Amino acid sequence: MLDGPRENMIDTDRILDPKIAAVAEKVLAGDEADAGDALAMLATTDILGLGSVANHVRESVNGNRAYYGVNMNLNYTNICELRCPLCAYSRDARDPDAYLYSLDEIERRVREAAVRGIDEVHIVGGLHPGLKLDYFEEMLRRIKKIDPRIFIVAFTAAEYDYFARLNGVPLGEVFDRLIAAGLGALPGGGAEIFAEEKRALIAPKKISGGRWLEVMKTAHRRGLKTNATMLYNHIESDADIADHMGRIRDLQKDTGGFKTFVPLRFHEENTKIRSARRFETGFDDIRIYATARIFLHNVPHIKALWMYLGDRIAQTLLAFGVDDIGATYLNEKVVHAAGAATPDYGTEEFLVRLIRSAGRDPVRTAADYSGAGESRP
Ligand code: SF4
Repeated sequence: MLDGPRENMIDTDRILDPKIAAVAEKVLAGDEADAGDALAMLATTDILGLGSVANHVRESVNGNRAYYGVNMNLNYTNICELRCPLCAYSRDARDPDAYLYSLDEIERRVREAAVRGIDEVHIVGGLHPGLKLDYFEEMLRRIKKIDPRIFIVAFTAAEYDYFARLNGVPLGEVFDRLIAAGLGALPGGGAEIFAEEKRALIAPKKISGGRWLEVMKTAHRRGLKTNATMLYNHIESDADIADHMGRIRDLQKDTGGFKTFVPLRFHEENTKIRSARRFETGFDDIRIYATARIFLHNVPHIKALWMYLGDRIAQTLLAFGVDDIGATYLNEKVVHAAGAATPDYGTEEFLVRLIRSAGRDPVRTAADYSGAGESRP
């Protein structure tokens, strides 16, 4: 259930699709949308009707605020044991463009970014069999030593599961040691799509959706806030999307640890996924984000990464349920390996301009939304 009936700010007379009007009625009554509603939302052509409901939820939760971050991306290695078919970024150790940053190199990069005034370091990498837990502890300690105010959001659930297995220690101990070294939150990657048969095709060796949720539950129990992602625009069906969001909503009812839901549009270039891919349009992006906002009523933020979607769609989504457009992402490598056409660094001014010209109030924040609430002057 939602937090009780809300003031009617949806003009239901202007909703053309009766199924979306029915969703609007539920939202206004404080009831949650079910899987059938999600399928209706993902299929509707009444994009403005859907948008009016999503915007109502968005403004009820986040007012007119639109969040962005100033951060750097640290992709410490592209060497990965799994070589998922969906991944354009990973390499085998013998490949000529394989790389692994030393701790000194990491320190140098973070120092350089700290001078530019970042608030946060966002760290993800491949599953490298030679990197033991002390490498990651030392990595986080060195970053905190540069500036203790830097917020560290690090490692996907697949990495945490790997750290535990590779080091022969319980998952909880992995979290405890990395929290002690400076870990602040989890970025939420590796969720892909939970539906087993699709996951078996796009990421056959990656942890299951069930294990991903277990890792998140363990993190939430230790007080860590996390994002939850969902990869779309590949071979998933609308039912798979509804199922994915349903499992996240259920865990959220239990732990309350998800801060943000981040749908990620799949980019196929340089990956092994081609045939039978969904035909994806701008309306599909809007339907997915707006549906997420309405369906995941218990997750406070919906993030559209401008780097994945392009700045124009990301900005448009600010009117369709989204309240966070991501960050400056100095040195992002993962999505660009898969052909994203956006520059790999947007300045803070660029992000503020996008938000302002959408009529929203920009708020600079980090992954825990600390310092949030103050609009930028
Ligand atoms: S998606 Fe992640 S786990 Fe899979 S190959 Fe790429 S880096 Fe490795």
